[in-house]
Amino acid sequence: SFKKSLGQNFLIDTNILHNIVSEADLTKEKGAIEIGPGIGALTEQLGRAAKKVMAIEIDQRLLPILQDTLSPYENIEVVHGDVLELDLKKLIEEKMTGVEKLSVVANLPYYVTTPILMKLLEERLPLENIVVMIQKEVAERIAAKPGTKDYGSLSVAAQFYADTEVAMIVPASVFVPRPNVDSAVIRLKVRDRPPVEVDDQDVFFRVVRSSFAQRRKTLLNNLMNGLFPKTQKDEVIQMLTDIGIDPTRRGETLSLDEFARLANEGMRRGLIT
Ligand code: SAM
Repeated sequence: SFKKSLGQNFLIDTNILHNIVSEADLTKEKGAIEIGPGIGALTEQLGRAAKKVMAIEIDQRLLPILQDTLSPYENIEVVHGDVLELDLKKLIEEKMTGVEKLSVVANLPYYVTTPILMKLLEERLPLENIVVMIQKEVAERIAAKPGTKDYGSLSVAAQFYADTEVAMIVPASVFVPRPNVDSAVIRLKVRDRPPVEVDDQDVFFRVVRSSFAQRRKTLLNNLMNGLFPKTQKDEVIQMLTDIGIDPTRRGETLSLDEFARLANEGMRRGLIT
């Protein structure tokens, strides 16, 4: 039986499985990490395409099935555990020796998509690509450009660490059981360094969160509501004007570069500490 609470919707369409694997640009020199192998359909394809595969599964009941399905593949190792709790850096060092490059390829459990993606990105794991099936709506938010309705802190965070692209939209009919939402495969090409110069990463993300706090408010109102001291409104307006950002704009129209300028200059002027 399926465990809904663990986001168990298994992929049954071989074509889709092939397409996902091909998005990751795997070769027999590269490694793959799968999160949530389920009953191992995608895992098998990864075993054929990559040099080594590590598959992390939380549901103990699936382990015997996986062992059975994957027994012909000597290059696949199943790790039992919660991906959010595991020390991935250490696991990679232990189990992924001798691979040229490493990617995450998975049909993610939707209830923990964002924490998993943020963990993969923030821990700066040595990854080339992250190719994952997720809820379509989340994929669109991740890849959204400034000024669109989907653009928010998640877009900025993902795009800070990776080049993002929605690779394909996938109908609910290719899963068993059928999920209630549409799905999409997103490809994150992990960056060596951020696309913008940021003096302090924590400050940068504080500025971003604060700018998106209330979408109908102006950038200035959002910034004065928590980030900057209320007594320094004039200084903040002056700073925004000096760096070429109109204070009456909405936070969701700012590019990564503008957020970076705002964070860096706010610190230089002693307005953010
Ligand atoms: N890869 C399979 C497929 O494509 O058919 C299954 C994908 S299913 C959407 C998600 C899988 O992730 C399930 O097997 C579930 O048990 C597992 N899972 C859920 N939460 C997890 C977690 N925190 N850590 C590791 N695996 C998890």
